[in-house]
Amino acid sequence: MKILVINSGSSSIKYQLLDMATESVLVTGLVERIGEAGGVLTARTHPGTGVEKRIRRENAVPDHNAGMKLLIAQLSDRQDGVIRDAAEIEAVGHRVVHGGEYFHEPALISEEVIQAISANVPLAPLHNPANLDGIRVARELFPQVPQVAVFDTAFHQSMPPHAFLYALPYELYEQDRIRRYGFHGTSHKFVAGECARLLGRPLAACNLITIHLGNGCSMTAVENGRSVETSLGMTPLEGLIMGTRCGDIDPALHAILHRSRGLDIEEIDALLNRESGLKGVCGMNDMRDIHAARQQGNKLAQLAFDMFVHRIRKYIGSYFAVLGRVDGLVFTAGIGENDHEVREATLAGLENLGIVLDREANAGKPGAWLRISAPESRVEVLVVRTNEELEIARQTMEVLGQAPIETTGPVWSGAVS
Ligand code: ADP
Repeated sequence: MKILVINSGSSSIKYQLLDMATESVLVTGLVERIGEAGGVLTARTHPGTGVEKRIRRENAVPDHNAGMKLLIAQLSDRQDGVIRDAAEIEAVGHRVVHGGEYFHEPALISEEVIQAISANVPLAPLHNPANLDGIRVARELFPQVPQVAVFDTAFHQSMPPHAFLYALPYELYEQDRIRRYGFHGTSHKFVAGECARLLGRPLAACNLITIHLGNGCSMTAVENGRSVETSLGMTPLEGLIMGTRCGDIDPALHAILHRSRGLDIEEIDALLNRESGLKGVCGMNDMRDIHAARQQGNKLAQLAFDMFVHRIRKYIGSYFAVLGRVDGLVFTAGIGENDHEVREATLAGLENLGIVLDREANAGKPGAWLRISAPESRVEVLVVRTNEELEIARQTMEVLGQAPIETTGPVWSGAVS
């Protein structure tokens, strides 16, 4: 079964075509600058294989419809394409950022589902409309093909009220749906599933802490395979320190910044989302630059690193208390997958929690996964490369009643795969 995965943004469409018989990626690509001057499509066919080919097409892309047509033309191009025609695409899976409280699972797209996604626009005013653009255009171009919406928030809908509610007047929840929703759910679900597979146990029997450290950062406590607590909140600002976002702060800071600096609410919002986090502390938001600066003795870079790590450790401790028993801890996303220094500093001295790092394994090169706990560690610690597109394609198949391919049982034989 060939599934097209679409992640439609306001001025871009990311896409992947997967052959789910082997779970292999046929094409991964991006249409950018939709509605702007100088639209461009970049793609790689058969990425990571010996026959990988890079494609770049500059083309005016006035709207999402034109963007989608351009990518379909690329997929079925006589010379560079991977399919004969668009009829080979059997399903489309769409990433949708906010499913609110309505969507606990992926949904087969219908008019009713589109209405429900539209109803959640106030919760994600920048993302959901762009996701809807992609859905509308794909339905026009593939009217016969089943389409599925996969939500970033859905995995966290299993959180109990005592975890997802803020201690605010209850009517703010009842009337305005103010609560913690969490994000990165597709990534947390994927790495939790991979971790369970590597542990050789059903996900429903695993208690895990999943740590997604990219530009945006979040952690999730997974109890018996279900999210019971997560660090991002009503918006993707709460919790861990991120590239440019502050994470947890005293909410009274809004009033203080207003009174002391005369900032209005939009300015404060921009400050906390775009000028804070690692960037706010040391002026850099890419962890690689921060390491380079630390090595040259830059004190603020060191401080930003220490703060970043400290916040993750605080959350690890609290998630141990939430879960009681932890079987596995998983690092993922740009920093989580690649940065052994962050992982080492994060896990230092946690032996009493049953976490013992194998420093040599931790310094190894990550493949699809890497086991970095020592044999005596009670908690298995893994690095798992996240794959949100594959997770969306798997969930799309599930909604359509198709079984995923058989994945092998425990693969503990080698540290790196
Ligand atoms: P996004 O949240 O945009 O998907 P990614 O998961 O790709 O982000 O993570 C991007 C971040 O990962 C970069 O800003 C950088 O800080 C970090 N990163 C990427 N590669 C490395 C690396 N080799 N070492 C340390 N950090 C890295």
